[in-house]
Amino acid sequence: MDAGDFSRQPRGRTIKVRCCIVGGGPAGMMLGYLLGRAGIDVVVLEKHADFFRDFRGDTVHPSTLQVMDELGLIDGFLKLPHQRLQKMDGVFGGTPVRIADLSRLKVKYPFIAFMPQWDFLNFLRESGKRFASLKVMMSTEAIDLIRDGGRVAGVRANNPEGAVDIEADLTIACDGRHSLVRERAGLATLEIGAPMDVLWFRAGKRQNETESVFARVDPGSMMVTFDRGDYWQCAYVIAKGQYDAVKARGLSALLDDVARMAPILKPGLADVKNWDDVKLLTVAINRLPRWTRPGLLCIGDAAHAMSPIGGVGVNLAVQDAVATANLLAAKLANGCPAEEELDAVRRRREFPVRMTQRMQVVAQNNIVSAALKPGGEALKVPLVLRLITAVPWLQGITARFVGLGVRPEHVHSPLRA
Ligand SMILES: Cc1cc2nc3c(=O)[nH]c(=O)nc-3n(C[C@H](O)[C@H](O)[C@H](O)COP(=O)(O)OP(=O)(O)OC[C@H]3O[C@@H](n4cnc5c(N)ncnc54)[C@H](O)[C@@H]3O)c2cc1C
Repeated sequence: MDAGDFSRQPRGRTIKVRCCIVGGGPAGMMLGYLLGRAGIDVVVLEKHADFFRDFRGDTVHPSTLQVMDELGLIDGFLKLPHQRLQKMDGVFGGTPVRIADLSRLKVKYPFIAFMPQWDFLNFLRESGKRFASLKVMMSTEAIDLIRDGGRVAGVRANNPEGAVDIEADLTIACDGRHSLVRERAGLATLEIGAPMDVLWFRAGKRQNETESVFARVDPGSMMVTFDRGDYWQCAYVIAKGQYDAVKARGLSALLDDVARMAPILKPGLADVKNWDDVKLLTVAINRLPRWTRPGLLCIGDAAHAMSPIGGVGVNLAVQDAVATANLLAAKLANGCPAEEELDAVRRRREFPVRMTQRMQVVAQNNIVSAALKPGGEALKVPLVLRLITAVPWLQGITARFVGLGVRPEHVHSPLRA
């Protein structure tokens, strides 16, 4: 980004704030809540009119539940409809395996809560309404950065009322894995790569239909199912770039494969009527070597897209938000922290991100790639899975990794509102 590129040409309405958060996903809504709670003048821009989008991360892990507890929000949160998962069981080439047992964690909330992401985000939005300094602007899409001298000075946005410029001392990109803010700031990701993509769909769940199996691996195919009360949420893993080939075989061929792998789903698969009911997640693993520019910070998926392995994306985004508020909220009271101070967030969070991505790559190379190898050979349970299944103590280690992650964050940001 050249210093000469920066300019200020206000259009339409202008709003001045201390901090502008672009993106109302888990990172943006949690950070908005925390900064509002700290009395910082903050606005969150969300381009959609609501949070109702299906097939986003719906897993709320013990680390996030702990954060909700520290914020005094847990009782209300756990009153929302959700399902709980403690034991992650699988069938690998016909052999039962146990991947993790969260009941072994010595934490207040030793389970994964499955809750539609829109419920989680709506809850944060409603809870944040008590903070006078927090404003959430829905249907407001950031379209470019405002630049001033050598720094980012806010964003240009559009909403149904027209153009609006948000002038901010600090802009925080929480706009996800296809971040426009990151791109406009000239921050490039380091791509790590993944051998798979994922097809998401729902299959109706009949009353009394229960099964503890969470992951299934057969020669050439792999699937994870989540019990969501009245439906099964299914993630069917395909080899990278094979979506068109899978589509060309036809929907009924896909559903036959699914039913063969997971016979319990068979009646509910009638709910998958056409390809519109199947959503493709193009799996990416990447991260930014540099998370900042003067006046700008990227966090959550905008700074690091995670593989779906472990279902950790939402929780890392929340952890980033907590770390950002811990490190910057007090400083923001006096203006925009210097870029070196903003970079403290990367210095704190890069290690957990790298470690998690490394473990995801190990799982990809040892389990996913082996399972998706064409040829239909009988599958042997990898040694690491056999060990984890045989030694319950190890199921606590995997549970810790999935449920709490590396270097879990605790809320230390000020409560001033
Ligand atoms: C199909 C699918 C399934 C997934 N399953 C899981 C799972 O089971 N568990 C898990 O932990 N993670 C899962 N993930 C990943 C998880 O959803 C993300 O890691 C997590 O949501 C990241 O949070 P975030 O706030 O950083 O970004 P996002 O959740 O991507 O939020 C970004 C927000 O920014 C908004 N936005 C984007 N551009 C603009 C703009 N220009 N102006 C204003 N707003 C903008 C978007 O509308 C969005 O609301 C899944 C992801 C997908 C796509």
